Amino acid sequence: MEKSFVVRGHICYSPVPEKIEIVENGYLVCEDQRVAGVFETLPEQYAALPLTDYGDRLIIPGLSDLHLHAPQYAFRSLGMDMELMEWLNTHTFPEESKYADLDYAARAYEIFANDLKHSATTRAAVFATLHVPATKLLMDLLEQTQVKAFVGKVNMDRNCPDFLCEKDSATSEMDTRRWIEETMGAYKNIQPILTPRFTPACSDDLMERIGRLQKEYHLPVQSHLSENPGEIAFVGELCPDAGFYGETYDRYGLFGANGPSIMAHCVYSGDAEVELMKKRGVFVAHCPQSNLNLASGIAPARKYMDRGLNMGLGTDIAGGYSLSILRAMADAVGMSKMYWRLVDESCRPLSVSESFYLGTKGGGAFFGKCGSFEEGYAADLVVLDDASLPHPQALDVEKRLERVIFLGDERNVFAKYVEGDRVF
Ligand SMILES: [Zn+2]
Repeated sequence: MEKSFVVRGHICYSPVPEKIEIVENGYLVCEDQRVAGVFETLPEQYAALPLTDYGDRLIIPGLSDLHLHAPQYAFRSLGMDMELMEWLNTHTFPEESKYADLDYAARAYEIFANDLKHSATTRAAVFATLHVPATKLLMDLLEQTQVKAFVGKVNMDRNCPDFLCEKDSATSEMDTRRWIEETMGAYKNIQPILTPRFTPACSDDLMERIGRLQKEYHLPVQSHLSENPGEIAFVGELCPDAGFYGETYDRYGLFGANGPSIMAHCVYSGDAEVELMKKRGVFVAHCPQSNLNLASGIAPARKYMDRGLNMGLGTDIAGGYSLSILRAMADAVGMSKMYWRLVDESCRPLSVSESFYLGTKGGGAFFGKCGSFEEGYAADLVVLDDASLPHPQALDVEKRLERVIFLGDERNVFAKYVEGDRVF
């Protein structure tokens, strides 16, 4: 059978948040792009499949990044001493406006695509800019990385600088429609996703038009929600009849009612907003490094987990400067401890296994059966080599995985497969 193979190594995955399943020197069998099973000894029926022995290395499911901005990759780590609004005006908006120039977009997006390819990420939800040609170029480049990604041309028609604002809602809809027609079904790995930037940057009329596009094309949606107190107050002024921020999307069907939706941040979502996210199956993209860097606050990941919300991790490039979801796992643990200490002592910190779950199966669920090695899951896997992280004792596999999460980066990614295809 095509794309059927066996890999051997120390296999680590989390079917549930509470525990990391580990099979030392185990066999992961992939049949026709899907996981067939994890075994301590290889069953006879699979003995004829090609086998790659990764020896003492760790094999984990591919990681999912639920929120990042590709055009911001070039200035990641710059301006990290600013708060959100100053950072947007100094770095984000001027930089994103450069993507009107395709030559610039090619130079920048090539760097981004190459780095994403060599990361542990196998699935991603990506913001581009409002520019259609540059967004298509990004999709072309990401197609080559073999990462399975949703990519969004951004909609924004108000409260933006003149140099980065669509002319009006009708133009925004027309450009978006053209972009969808040109990209939907055009790629093996890449799909379009509707991407209203956030309520402050999208007029009611534009939201209504995006809602109609969703019904017409059945596309998923990604946006931002309840990130920053100033932003939330501004949404209250712009939409005085909305009970809470999430309603400003929900009234146009853009909050999970008419198709899957990812909302990034959710730092200050109140009870009513959380209830609606639960009801609509909205995915929370928890971006701990961005929460810290932009001084947004700390998203209550523990509360959302206990409430049973759909949730995964996001790097939020460039609110977060690291493209690594391993790093996001580490940051999620650290930030949950700050939440517990400073905000609410009833919210116990996340464990490493819970954070590992969010970066694998939690976020992977947005893309279907992804992020686990249970039978039937997509054969997305990453081989981690921790030889560069020596330790004076012989550590067990779980401790070794924990060290790679906290100390590792893309240099520890030894091999990567997406849906059974080996990327490197
Ligand atoms: Zn963002």
